[in-house]
This record gives sequence, C-alpha cells and structure tokens, in this order.
Amino acid sequence: MSGSRLRPADPGQQRTLRSAALCYAAHGWPVVPAAFFDGTRYACVQADCVEDGPHPVWRLWQGRASTDPDVVASWYRLFSFAVALPTGVVFDVVEIPEPAAVRVQDALVRHRTPTPIAVWRERGVRLFWVSRGLSADHRLRAVSARIRGEGGWVPAPPTPTRRGPVHWSLAPEQADWGIVAHADLAAALDAVN
Ligand SMILES: [Zn+2]
Repeated sequence: MSGSRLRPADPGQQRTLRSAALCYAAHGWPVVPAAFFDGTRYACVQADCVEDGPHPVWRLWQGRASTDPDVVASWYRLFSFAVALPTGVVFDVVEIPEPAAVRVQDALVRHRTPTPIAVWRERGVRLFWVSRGLSADHRLRAVSARIRGEGGWVPAPPTPTRRGPVHWSLAPEQADWGIVAHADLAAALDAVN
C-alpha cells in the first residue's frame, strides 16, 4: 500500500487508534483501516480520493476486513489510520439523529437492555449496535433512523473527524460486548415514540 499521502499523527493518537482496532478484533469484530482526519483533510491511500469524511482506505475493502491481530497490527504499525467496522457481519448498526437518539439510549438503559452506542457528532447522529438482519419498520421511520447492514460500515471510536472523535456514549464493556436483540430495540423505540 502506498502511504505517501499519509502524514503520521502524534504517536499517542496513533497508539490509541491501534489499540482500539486490536480490541475490536479481539472481541470478534472485523476491522478495516479508515481515512485519518489530520486536522485539514481525510487522508487515505487513494491518490484521487475526494471523500470528505471517514471511510475505509480501500475501495474494495469487504474482503480485507480482519480479526487477525497480526494483520490488524501490521496495518496500524506504520500509518495513522482511523477505524471502520463492517456492518451486517457480526452486527448491524442503526443510525438515529439527535435528539431522538438520546431518548432511545435512555430507554435501552432503563429497560436494562444496553448495547454499544457511539456518538458521531459530525453527522449529528448516534450509532446503535443491533443484531443482524434488522429491517425498517414504522418505529424506525418515526425517528428517521437509517440501517447500516450488509455491505456497509461505520466509523468506530476514537476515529477523528472534523468535529472531534467519534466516541462511545455507551461503551461495549458497559454492555458486556453484547448486542441488543430486535425485540428489545423495538421496545425501546415504542417507549419513545
Ligand atoms: Zn479516500
């Protein structure tokens, strides 16, 4: 891979991104390196890339996502990459705009059905990890939710963006790395709609 356009970040940030990627991989979540926001632009390995936002560094990334610690470590050894996680493999992700997202998160916590939830401030949304195979219904439409399933991906904490890093509002550890079931997500949505 050519890294000529990738500037090294500060070593602390590089280490933090690498250990996050390795942690996801160790929990069975496949990882893909993502474009790194260097304070000015999103740098990736494609010379002609014009994407302005986090995205996987390869166009054909699907076959390259990995949970192998040696493979993942090798990607992050030399370059500052952010972290993308494929959806529709181990989990789907539901993207819910603020402020409805806060109410859905509160309902999940109140119902004791926590799931990993990340804040992507650049887009004004929270990302809710859910079991695979979710399909759109009236509950999801009522909160303008978007499903990221098979063939998709999400930026994972602590991916840097123009508006600060993507961060957990409910970390995977707080959910014991569990993923909420469709029925439990539906119950939380019913509680807020
Ligand atoms: Zn790119």
